[in-house]
Amino acid sequence: MDISERIYLDYAASTPLDKEVLQSMTPYFSDCFGNANSQHYYGRKAAEALDAARETIAAAIGARDSEIYFTSGGTEADNLAVFGAARAQKKRGRTRILLSAAEHHAVSESADALAKDENFEVERIPIDGGGKIDLAFLKRVADERTALVAVMAASNELGTIQPVKEAAEIAHATGATFFTDAVQAAPYLRLNVKELGADLLSFSAHKFYGPKGAGILYVKSGLPMERLIAGGEQERGLRGGTVNVAAAAGAAAAYKKALAEMEENNKKIRALKQRFLREISAYPFIKINGGDGDDYLPSILNLRIDGAENAAVLSLMDLRGVAASAGAACAGGDVLPSRVLLAAGLSEEQAKSSFRVSFGKHNTEEEIVRAAKIIGEIGETLTKKSANE
Ligand code: PLP
Repeated sequence: MDISERIYLDYAASTPLDKEVLQSMTPYFSDCFGNANSQHYYGRKAAEALDAARETIAAAIGARDSEIYFTSGGTEADNLAVFGAARAQKKRGRTRILLSAAEHHAVSESADALAKDENFEVERIPIDGGGKIDLAFLKRVADERTALVAVMAASNELGTIQPVKEAAEIAHATGATFFTDAVQAAPYLRLNVKELGADLLSFSAHKFYGPKGAGILYVKSGLPMERLIAGGEQERGLRGGTVNVAAAAGAAAAYKKALAEMEENNKKIRALKQRFLREISAYPFIKINGGDGDDYLPSILNLRIDGAENAAVLSLMDLRGVAASAGAACAGGDVLPSRVLLAAGLSEEQAKSSFRVSFGKHNTEEEIVRAAKIIGEIGETLTKKSANE
């Protein structure tokens, strides 16, 4: 099959690098290759680029330049937020972590590691069938022993937009640190750390047409933090290691472009989603997990075909040129049901029959119509097969 016939519906897993963004990165692979910490012309050139990238990101989210930290990706930013803030709070007698049941593995497993190895008490904030957190539960359980509350801005599996501001208020009322993973939300929502009340906020550039391996962590000025990566004094001592200047420059250029195009892209992508929903309504056995209204990202749809395992659906889709995934890309290959879908009330069987399609700015209506038909036909074949078994 020619690549031009393939349909990419996995933008929540990663997006293609924008050509202009690539151009903005190339000088830092060649002439401006210096180490941003070096005290000479080459170092200064790299440091200037890093400062400019920091300034762009900071201005975009209502932060100060000194509150922006570059990391090797969303996963590292999430790990730094959870381990760094929780360990710093433990020294102040706080040993509880409250996190939403919808968190990405990067947050969820960091918290579990702290429970297993460092005597933290970890509790998950339940989510409803739509994927939204139970704020009343959070309010009930948050107390003065709470070190950290983590509620993602939007779900990577269901697309649910969370009530971040309200969760932050509850956390702050107890003196806890509040962290929001905005990796999926970044291309679609205007995020301002002050309006959200975030002490920590993470981003990953490859979700908004920037490079992979380019993460950002906002850390509120004065917030007690411990570092994860020991080394030099880069990133104001919080993250050792020579900074990837090209990645930082690319992340900033990509975020700037994402903000400039946000309304236009959201409108286009939401319309594609609506069109897709209309097309799949011809196949009543395709169910929607969560929801598809305005409190969901325009890009994500979580689908289910009862009686057809997602691994089979996805591999048949791939054979017919449609790329999608089981939800969390990092869980690809294993057959465990998504713990997020289970938390949203699905049975194991239903969770194993669920998969995610996610749209992006390069999709066309023709692709969406074709993909819906392919998924419908695959569903028809598999559900007939399972009915005859
Ligand atoms: N957080 C969320 C919500 C994500 O969706 C992802 C990636 O899928 C990550 C964190 C991890 O980001 P990265 O791929 O940059 O490590």
